[in-house]
Formats: sequence, C-alpha cells, structure tokens
Amino acid sequence: MKVGIIGSGFTGLSAAYFLSKAGADVIVFESGDTPGGMAGGFLNKSWNWSLENHYHHLFTNDISVLGLAKEVGHKIIIGSPKTSTYFDDGIYQFDSPLTLLKFEKLSLLDRLRTGAAMAFLKVNPFWKPLEKVASEKFIRSLMGEKSWKFIWEPLFVKKFGKYSGDVNAAWFWARIYKRTMKLAYPEGGFLSLARKIEKEIIENRGKFFYNTRVAFLKKKGGKIAIVTDGKTQTFDKVICTIPTDKFIEITNGLPKNYSNKYMELKSLGAINLVISLNKRYLPGNNYWLNVNELDYPFVSIVEHTNFMSASHYNNEHLLYIGNYLPHNHKYFSYDADSLLKEFTPYLKKINNKFSAKMIKKVWVFKDKYAQPIVFKNHSKNIPDFNTPIEGLFLCNIQQVYPWDRGTNYAVENGKKVAELVLKS
Ligand SMILES: Cc1cc2nc3c(=O)[nH]c(=O)nc-3n(C[C@H](O)[C@H](O)[C@H](O)COP(=O)(O)OP(=O)(O)OC[C@H]3O[C@@H](n4cnc5c(N)ncnc54)[C@H](O)[C@@H]3O)c2cc1C
Repeated sequence: MKVGIIGSGFTGLSAAYFLSKAGADVIVFESGDTPGGMAGGFLNKSWNWSLENHYHHLFTNDISVLGLAKEVGHKIIIGSPKTSTYFDDGIYQFDSPLTLLKFEKLSLLDRLRTGAAMAFLKVNPFWKPLEKVASEKFIRSLMGEKSWKFIWEPLFVKKFGKYSGDVNAAWFWARIYKRTMKLAYPEGGFLSLARKIEKEIIENRGKFFYNTRVAFLKKKGGKIAIVTDGKTQTFDKVICTIPTDKFIEITNGLPKNYSNKYMELKSLGAINLVISLNKRYLPGNNYWLNVNELDYPFVSIVEHTNFMSASHYNNEHLLYIGNYLPHNHKYFSYDADSLLKEFTPYLKKINNKFSAKMIKKVWVFKDKYAQPIVFKNHSKNIPDFNTPIEGLFLCNIQQVYPWDRGTNYAVENGKKVAELVLKS
C-alpha cells in the first residue's frame, strides 16, 4: 500500500513510523526544511543540542510520545524545574500543593478552597459534563472569586484574548488532571527526537520530501492525487496533518456542508522571542514564569537552561518570551529586534539587572495554528479522521481533545490514524 503523508510534525512522523513499520510504502511531504513541525527547532553554531522554536517539555505521563522515544531508542531526561507566577510585587512559586498553601495573595480560606478544587480535578476522570460549562464560570464557583481574579483570570485573558470567557471547563480540567510535578525532555532536543524517528522511517524504506508544499489534493480514479509544485503523485491512501481550514482549501471535492462546518474551527497563533544571554535572567532558578500582570505584553517567560544545562548550548542562557495572539495581531509583522525593544521595559521590571550587555543574539518564531480554541460542547465540532473522500484521512492538532494539544497526542493520534489506514 502506498501512503502519502502531508506534514512532518509529530502527527505525520508518528503515522509514517507506524505505517512504514507495518510494511506500507510511505512518502512524507513537508513544506519546511526539517522534521518536527511546531515542536521542531534549530541548532545554532557552537551548540551541541538543538533548541525548539517554541518552548517545549513533556509530562512524565505522556505515554505515547515517551513510548515512541523508547521504541526508537531516544533517551529522555526527567527533572523537577521550578514554576512560578509574576505579580508586580514579586515572584511567587506556584507548582505544588505546598507552594499554593504559602501563596499570600489569597486568604487561607481561598487557598484551601483552591487546593481542594485542584485536588478534586486531579482525581476526577469525568470530563464530559465539564465541556458544557465555561472555565470562567466553573472556576469562579469552585475556587471562589479571589482565586479567579488573582490566579486564573490573567492567564485565561492573556492566553485566549477575546475567547477567554468561552473556553470550556474540560480544557481546564485536562490541564490540571494531566500535569505532573516532574517534567521530561528528549536528550538533544525535540528536533533530535524527530530526526531519530525520521531515520527509523527511512530505514523502513519511507521517503521524505522537504521544502515541498502540497498545493492540491484530489480523487483520481480509485486513488488520491497529491499535487506539489506542478508534480502529481498518486497514492492508495493519504493522511493530511495540516490545520483543517488549510486542508479544506487545498482539497478538491469536499461537500459544502463539511467545508462550511469545519472551516469555522478557531485557533490562536503563538509568537516566541528567543534570547541568548551570557547570564541567567530569571531569579531563583525558575524555569517557567507565568506573567499575571495584564498590561505586560507577554504571557510567559521560560528559561530553558534552568531546566536543561546551559553547557549543551555553549554556556548560553536561553530565554523564551511567549505570547498567544490572534492571526492579525501587529506582533506577527514585528522582527526580533522590534519585539525585543517592545518587551525590554517589562523585562527590566521583572529583573532590574536585565540589560542589552547580557544579550548575545535574538530570534523570533511565529506559528498561526498554535492553540485551538475549545468552546462549549466542543466534542460535537471535531472532524473525524475519515473524511468524505474515501482514502483521504485528516489527523491534526484540532482533533486533540479533551487534552490540550501536545506532541504526546500528536503521536497518539498519528498511531490511531495509521491503524485506521491499515484496516481500511
Ligand atoms: C508555543 C507552543 C508551546 C508548546 N509547548 C508544548 C510542550 O511543552 N509540549 C508538547 O508536547 N507540545 C507543545 N506544543 C504543542 C506541539 O508543538 C504540537 O501539539 C505538535 O507539534 C503538533 O504536531 P502536528 O504534527 O499535529 O502539527 P505541526 O507540528 O503543525 O505539523 C504540521 C506540519 O505540516 C507542515 N505543512 C503545513 N502545510 C503544508 C503543506 N501545504 N504541504 C506540506 N507540509 C505542510 C508544517 O510545516 C508542519 O511541519 C506547543 C506548541 C506551541 C505553539
């Protein structure tokens, strides 16, 4: 069986791996020049390890991606980096029941109420009823008004912007239920893991075409044709892993009711400014800092080298300044220097020792389909892996639910769609 796969992110890699392992002839088409998609990265001269374009880590219960890493023989590092929250009067560690108990911004009663609600979410596996209610309403009633105002509202507003009141409570549940205290990271970076999976696929006689954008898909006889830059190749089956509206745009012959329904799925983009520094930036060896001040122009600061040692990166300290934004936000037209200029006054407020002298280099990375928005009753709005065109399958980030999107679910869904293709 000849299978075409569009996209070499972790969904496409997983589907290609399991199909090629089962003996299918697999060809992967990727518009970029490396595997890994949004979890891919880059290797600066003099670094031993690659760095993700956007901050990435794994939870220790991410069994699908950890299982695949084990299968291809890739080492995973486990650690306990610190997560904290910034308010204009300081940084508060906030990553365990004990640190919540010490969180002075809430009264003891509110702390206990928030802790009890989080403990309940951690043990309750029943998410389905929660998709009927908005997170905001759910958190307010369960954890109290103060907890919502201080801890959660700034994060929702900064992460989801105009959709912050509409995200369903199953999404919130998944964030609490799934998070582990320890975090994991592939040795050498996610790009290195992606390369290892790519190598296995090639050993299984799979092929990769990079810098090859698929322009058009159509049914041709009993097969599916993939058109790239004037060249047409036909396949018994095709798996498309790109965002749903892009899939609809390039596919000929989808019924109108399908296109109209799924064209409406909403996503926010992500922008990460990456700064290489000659010194640590975040005080207290923090890895992750949520920025809970609404007038700051970013939602989080992640100091990657407070999790993975700077020695892998020529002793440079690597900092992400992260944002989730609508596709038409002005920052999508900013270059790295303009963003750095915009963010510098705020970076100085968080650490008054921050100065231009510390900076070695800056990069900016932008992706427009970074965070799907899950409204109430979202399970009714998820497209199936099977599409109305026989032999053509859709498997992408917008089908990950109720979990928040992540490489673990990309691998899980990639494997499921591979099994479906093999059975079909
Ligand atoms: C800011 C940020 C932080 C994140 N943090 C984490 C984290 O800590 N842990 C974690 O596990 N996950 C994290 N994620 C999520 C994770 O990156 C994604 O869930 C995962 O990479 C999705 O993989 P995918 O293969 O489904 O999609 P993608 O990675 O988007 O892959 C799709 C691929 O298709 C290619 N493509 C698009 N159009 C075409 C075309 N027409 N022709 C050919 N190729 C095409 C794209 O170039 C891309 O490589 C994060 C994401 C972002 C944006």
